[in-house]
Amino acid sequence: MRIDIISAVPELLRSPLEHSIMKRARDRGLLEVHIHDLRDFGFGKHRQIDDYQYGGGAGMVMMIEPILTCIEKLTADRTYDEIVYMAPDGRLLDQQTANQYSLKENIILLCGHYKGIDERLREHTITDEISIGSYVLSGGELPALVMVDAIGRIIPGVLNDETSALFDSFQDGVIAPPVYTRPSEFRGWKVPDVLLSGHDAKIQAWREEQSRLRTKQYLEKGKSIPLDLDLD
Ligand code: SAH
Repeated sequence: MRIDIISAVPELLRSPLEHSIMKRARDRGLLEVHIHDLRDFGFGKHRQIDDYQYGGGAGMVMMIEPILTCIEKLTADRTYDEIVYMAPDGRLLDQQTANQYSLKENIILLCGHYKGIDERLREHTITDEISIGSYVLSGGELPALVMVDAIGRIIPGVLNDETSALFDSFQDGVIAPPVYTRPSEFRGWKVPDVLLSGHDAKIQAWREEQSRLRTKQYLEKGKSIPLDLDLD
């Protein structure tokens, strides 16, 4: 899978993509991430990419042309499944959305800044808008990284134990059971006996029960788990 990220502050994007699981995904050739500095498409010696908003008011708006030039340069070379604008009012990123995106081949993630992008881009060029929550951040870079991570870790072959992402929370509509590691007792805090029993069937049954309980508690908080996964 290939992800192109367009950003006015590309420095913000680098480190998280160069470590841990995202690094592994890239090293294994399973995920290609290309970062594009919007200022390379800006105007004049200041490489301007923003301007005052029509109608007045505080805050700059990102201009159409630098963004569109960058997007058109990319779309001239390959077909993109989606051109995504990271937007506080977009549809909320959830596991289902990440699963669906992990099946795509090429996507562009556009990070806004300042007051956001000229609305005409949203009307004519953007094909999907994704939010990471109902709050406003100063730029789309962190949301884009959240999305790349959520997508990248579920691409087959990225996680070492290939099946482990399947048992994480939200996959299959349930919350994952609790996990423990050594020591088996710490300051009197004990690991549940069943996990030390070596009895696989009992352990499995306990995990399923814990998962059910956690899911119930989660749903009781008024939260929901998207379920209609269709990955065929
Ligand atoms: N004026 C806009 C906010 C702009 S914030 C408004 O009131 O809706 C600047 C940029 O940060 C946005 O263009 C967007 O790309 C990004 N951003 C901020 N919060 C976000 C969120 N919750 N999810 C995704 N992107 C977000």
